[in-house]
Amino acid sequence: MTTAPHQSSARVHNFCAGPCTLPVSILEEVRDEFLDFDGIGMSLLEDSHRAPAYDAVHNAALADFRSLAAVPDDYAVLFLQGGATLQFAQVPMNLLADGETASYVDTGAWGTKALADARKVAAVHEAWTGVDEGFARMPSADEFDIAEGSRYLHITSNETIGGIRFPEYPKVDLPMVGDMSSDFLSRPIDWDRFDLVYGGVQKNLGPAGMAVVVVRRDLFGRSGHDLPSSLDYAVQDANDSLANTPPMFPIWVMGKVLAWMIATGGLGEFERRAAERAGVLYGAIDGSDGWYRSPVDEASRSYMNIVFRLPDEDLEKQFVAEAAHADMVNLKGHRSVGGIRASVYNAMPLESVQTLVSFMADFKAANG
Ligand SMILES: *Cc1c(COP(=O)(O)O)cnc(C)c1O
Repeated sequence: MTTAPHQSSARVHNFCAGPCTLPVSILEEVRDEFLDFDGIGMSLLEDSHRAPAYDAVHNAALADFRSLAAVPDDYAVLFLQGGATLQFAQVPMNLLADGETASYVDTGAWGTKALADARKVAAVHEAWTGVDEGFARMPSADEFDIAEGSRYLHITSNETIGGIRFPEYPKVDLPMVGDMSSDFLSRPIDWDRFDLVYGGVQKNLGPAGMAVVVVRRDLFGRSGHDLPSSLDYAVQDANDSLANTPPMFPIWVMGKVLAWMIATGGLGEFERRAAERAGVLYGAIDGSDGWYRSPVDEASRSYMNIVFRLPDEDLEKQFVAEAAHADMVNLKGHRSVGGIRASVYNAMPLESVQTLVSFMADFKAANG
């Protein structure tokens, strides 16, 4: 079997929805440090996770996440295995006592999954669903039906498959929990509105293999459940996310991404870059006289996952194939929705977006 062809030995423009493209400079650094990390005579991956070399990497990543996201002191930053998906269950296990409820906003594939898993461990309530509207928009807060006494409202800040995002976090009078996997650290987080945020890091911050959870420490133990240690946030926080062997490789690489983001200008700069990339792509879609078409509500358009349609599915297949031939890969929309999806996360260079946009113009000229 051969994989998708690409024409040159150069790196492709990778529009994958997750895992994401990473800065080349960081991949080169990892390569250069791989066999002998910082003079220890072995790879970091072979050393003890309690040794000084790893300890420095681990603590720098924790500190850099905290500084980049401006996490307040009374919140814990946790590096956890199981991805964002485990958080669908781990959040209610930690935050809800027997008999308590939380409300969930179902804005797409991920919101649906978060609610379904929460329901397996707690009595949670659906506050809103966009299913009948094909998940084409984000709701406003006045549409929510929040169950009385809800401990929190769960939202998905960006729906990776549908290609929609909350342009602003909703304003509600209860604390929120946010799945921010697909726009993690691409814009500031209003900590006074969130009790907990989480995200798999492979969309915006590094390789697959872990999630970051940021949670208010005074919520520890509030469920009253005697949780298994691997599921208890308090245990990981008391051990600085070293209660058991951590996912050293993703933490190492993510640490480099976080340091690079800080050196590049922090969240303000990455928010600006995201708006710029999305602006270029939506500009190309809107400027095509309807040949390329965004299927989602304009105010809810994602800055990370830009979905669009062509006049028919055959043209979409041809678009994906010809784009791959021109070294632009992973543009096929999710199998559940079809169409095209260009995922442009934090490390996506503007040049890749410009290359795609000029390909779009050429493709329309040849086939329109
Ligand atoms: C990818 C994704 C997930 C699942 O993440 P895993 O780390 O693979 O479990 C959850 N929520 C959103 C919004 C995502 O984009």
